[in-house]
Amino acid sequence: MQRIYYLSLEFYMGRTLQNTMVNLALQNACDEATYQLGLDMEELQEIEEDAGLGNGGLGRLAACFLDSMATLGLAAYGYGIRYEFGIFNQKICGGWQLEEADDWLRYGNPWEKARPEYMIPVHFYGRIQHDHDGVKWVDTQVVLALPYDTPVPGYRNNTVNTMRLWSARAPNEFNLKDFNVGGYIQAVLDRNLAENISRVLYPNDNFFEGKELRLKQEYFVVAATLQDIIRRFKSSKFGSRDPVRTSFDAFPDKVAIQLNDTHPSLTIPELMRVLVDIEKLDWDKVRPCMVEMFRGPVHNPSDFNGWLSLSLSAQKVYAKFPGDLDRMRRMSMVEEGSVKRINMAHLCIVGSHAVNGVARIHSEILKATVFKDFYEFEPHKFQNKTNGITPRRWLVLCNPGLAEIIAERIGEDYISDLDQLKKLLAFVEDEGFIRDIAKVKQENKLKFSAYLEKEYKVKINPNSLFDIQVKRIHEYKRQLLNCLHIITFYNRIKKEPNKHFVPRTIMIGGKAAPGYHMAKMIIKLITSIGDIVNNDPVIGDRLKVIFLENYRVSLAEKVVPAADLSEQISTAGTEASGTGNMKFMLNGALTIGTMDGANVEMAEEAGEENFFIFGMRVEDVDELDRKGYCAKDYYDHIPELKQAIDQMSSGFFSPKQPDLFKDIVNMLMYHDRFKVFADYEAYIKCQEKVSALYKNTKEWTKKVIKNIATSGKFSSDRTIAQYAREIWGVEPTRQKIPAPDDPRE
Ligand SMILES: *Cc1c(COP(=O)(O)O)cnc(C)c1O
Repeated sequence: MQRIYYLSLEFYMGRTLQNTMVNLALQNACDEATYQLGLDMEELQEIEEDAGLGNGGLGRLAACFLDSMATLGLAAYGYGIRYEFGIFNQKICGGWQLEEADDWLRYGNPWEKARPEYMIPVHFYGRIQHDHDGVKWVDTQVVLALPYDTPVPGYRNNTVNTMRLWSARAPNEFNLKDFNVGGYIQAVLDRNLAENISRVLYPNDNFFEGKELRLKQEYFVVAATLQDIIRRFKSSKFGSRDPVRTSFDAFPDKVAIQLNDTHPSLTIPELMRVLVDIEKLDWDKVRPCMVEMFRGPVHNPSDFNGWLSLSLSAQKVYAKFPGDLDRMRRMSMVEEGSVKRINMAHLCIVGSHAVNGVARIHSEILKATVFKDFYEFEPHKFQNKTNGITPRRWLVLCNPGLAEIIAERIGEDYISDLDQLKKLLAFVEDEGFIRDIAKVKQENKLKFSAYLEKEYKVKINPNSLFDIQVKRIHEYKRQLLNCLHIITFYNRIKKEPNKHFVPRTIMIGGKAAPGYHMAKMIIKLITSIGDIVNNDPVIGDRLKVIFLENYRVSLAEKVVPAADLSEQISTAGTEASGTGNMKFMLNGALTIGTMDGANVEMAEEAGEENFFIFGMRVEDVDELDRKGYCAKDYYDHIPELKQAIDQMSSGFFSPKQPDLFKDIVNMLMYHDRFKVFADYEAYIKCQEKVSALYKNTKEWTKKVIKNIATSGKFSSDRTIAQYAREIWGVEPTRQKIPAPDDPRE
């Protein structure tokens, strides 16, 4: 049995109760049982804390992959860190983001089981000593890694995998040498130093922060996991043939290690170290095995600025490209400079047998630009695996009404074979189905409106178009482009107050990294625009702007099913894939988006006529870079854009502090890396088309059906089946067991 090890610094799991019931087919039975007790299952579910051990897409991808690996019957383990504090809770105060610690373990965690019998020491610092039989690592500081296991049930297939998260523990003798007079108390207090390693998730999404504690987290999960993998291998029949020295011959065939981005890339030098220095294997034997075992996907190009240490294949590069010293320098794992740094992406590529992008366009960009030299050197290593989402959480769990009316038409098998949604194309002209789809959407919108009114005391018009952009706040995701549309829409109503406008509720949500000033200003801008727009009597309920506080997995499950329009408007070439886009498509929203990330493949599947595509393509962005992007040209030539920017800079949205948004305006006008103004006109025009179509509920709904029917490709089951066959070399098998509590069976 080949075992798959999925290493990730993040697992953004969200809640577990309903997911467990869905996958074990216990939901109806539990609903009924709690009802008999006078309890409401939905109310109970709301009490559970999100496991927020992730920032955004990358961590949520790892969670979706665990569900799909279990559902496909793979012997897969998720390995990560049990952060005591996950992603911070976001509070909005006076329109500003405040961060509050996420004390998610306060009342305990019923889903985990500590496994002290598998506790493992991890070494830090120290020095190397050479002696007769190799090198010794001495004078180290030891931190214990205590594993906690969480079950990962597959969808109705009698399979339960394990997610193993490591918690840092100081050894009992930690700082014992300080036990002189008065030293005892200090020694106990100092245990925190070691245990801080698993204290808190770094709250950066798509951003490298070169902090020592972060590097220690990365080494901690890598070192503990590799020891666990080797322990398990040795205890298997393949590893234990020689009682004195383990044969590692079968290791590459029995172990596949998948790295989620470059964050766990220390796995590569650490495995080399363990095999050579600890297990005493020949380096000449180890090297080819290394490459056999590693697989590394790669997320955002802007991620590639992480650094560490190593050097090997320079000779091979020289042999293939003799005399090309510049190429050798570019491909080096060691970056020369005043400080020598190690390029973690280069390390991953050299040490892995496969490297993949996470959407077709992203994989092509990697080969053509960031990793061009490596692609020319070893083209066979480069693959694509377009991301996906699990249809269990992102349809059955979050949108039972939609899952039900689909099942009424095509049966339930689509839930673990999402391509079967194509059968819905036969119902595009079916009046009854069109009505049912529109009805479920309306019910979801009403439910979400009630939630907003109850929790946040905001009243919205449930008949308006729900226009939603939820994702981390980032300049490249261009929430500012959305803001410019809001302001333009507002100005148009003010200019012609008696004209008909299709009413919209525009909702934006997402966390800003605490140290990301511009992202925090963007939140303040959104809330400030809301204050003006929402209180203008001329506007009425034709336009409302809502900032959705504390966007997280459990909030995504509420808002996605209620969306009419999904905003996926990053500058072409900047979003590696996106997965939020897929959640909305599967839940019956139409997408307004750029040709970026997986949007390209979503539009291809749905048909471009069923997608609101606008703006520059990657080639246009490149062309504009060659020409030189000049924001002021757009500002000078587009009156509505000028008006919006002038309102921002004159304090129209911040009357008490007129220069509040000067940093934003200055950025947009003079150093906007994401070229917001260049897509402004196309975006506004595209939004006009959205409004026009929305007036015709039937035509709108037909496009919705075509989108749902063609979203099958974006199941993470498909993604994982491709990883299994094309990278890990295993064939997934899905065993289905009958659902015990399904009233139809
Ligand atoms: C899916 C998801 C994301 C990723 O959204 P993108 O739009 O792809 O950036 C981020 N956060 C949460 C809570 C999610 O569920």
